[in-house]
Amino acid sequence: MVRLRLEDIEFKQADFRLDIPFLEAKPGEFLTLLGPSGCGKTTTLRIIAGFEKPDKGKIYFDDTVMNDVPPYERNIGIVFQDYALFPHMTVYDNISFGLKLRKLSKEEIKRRVSWALELVGLKGFEDRYPEQLSGGQQQRVALARALVIEPQLLLLDEPLSNLDAKIRERLRGEIKRIQKELGITTIYVTHDQEEAMAISDRIAVMSVGKIEQVGNPLDLYYNPKNEFVARFLGLSNILEVNAEEGKAYVGNLCFEVKTEGRVKIFFRPESVYIEEGDMGEIVDYELLPGRIRLKIDVEGKVIIAERFLDEIPFSIEKIPKKVGIKVKSFSILSSSP
Ligand code: ADP
Ligand code: MG
Repeated sequence: MVRLRLEDIEFKQADFRLDIPFLEAKPGEFLTLLGPSGCGKTTTLRIIAGFEKPDKGKIYFDDTVMNDVPPYERNIGIVFQDYALFPHMTVYDNISFGLKLRKLSKEEIKRRVSWALELVGLKGFEDRYPEQLSGGQQQRVALARALVIEPQLLLLDEPLSNLDAKIRERLRGEIKRIQKELGITTIYVTHDQEEAMAISDRIAVMSVGKIEQVGNPLDLYYNPKNEFVARFLGLSNILEVNAEEGKAYVGNLCFEVKTEGRVKIFFRPESVYIEEGDMGEIVDYELLPGRIRLKIDVEGKVIIAERFLDEIPFSIEKIPKKVGIKVKSFSILSSSP
């Protein structure tokens, strides 16, 4: 189990500039880089793998500086979005390819391929060709090929993006199970926040060229440090208001903010509880499976609330014009976007 550390990384390519003062994946950790397309996730993986050289900064595996170690000596397993299997080779030959390069004995190769196929649930598929497999099965082969070399680090670049929703959910569960079973330090890249939340020990949220915040999924979700992180992880209520004597008001809603002046109050729709009352006006609503999402106008500010249907004090056949609101938890965002 290796500890991965990036320190003071700077990288420029055309108009793009990547800056990572510090990023660490602890031994055995599942760390996800989450961010919009073009923010530099793949570039970061390529720097870790050694396909790109940073202009500045150091890459450490434990206490060893890896900057001058070529990719094939870094002992990394990589899975890409597009499977990248050799089309003219069988599953067995695809998986054993890296082992043959490493000049392992035939028996050892056989033992390891069989182990890897079992791990990804593809025992018996040795003689198939990639075109005879579904997308999900091809990605399992790619995963087996990455793991069969017993890498010290596993890099996964949007491995599920080309798959259907159902397969995606199943495979992400399996990736997580396999990662925990092997205890292999893993860097996972995705632009899908739900996937990141479901699979990661910690998430690094990226905006163009930089890391905005690193933390465990729930902490990032409920305590984002700025508006970018808040909005990227899901539906947000962000109310910019003035606070006096430690209190900020939106209509009759009071937030104990313990500071003075302009503040950005943040909370998720599911932190808003609905009561009978006339604090706000329902301006719109949407029914979701088992839930209702309400837009409630409070003195000109629209608050989004989401509740299970059995938690609201009215029936959906009789949605009232006005309701009461209680916000059970909130946090304060930094003033920068
Ligand atoms: P992501 O994986 O988050 O979508 P990338 O790391 O692929 O982002 O890209 C980061 C930036 O670098 C983007 O602006 C992209 O257009 C640019 N870029 C990526 N690959 C190349 C390349 N081979 N040549 C020039 N620019 C590139
Ligand atoms: Mg990418």
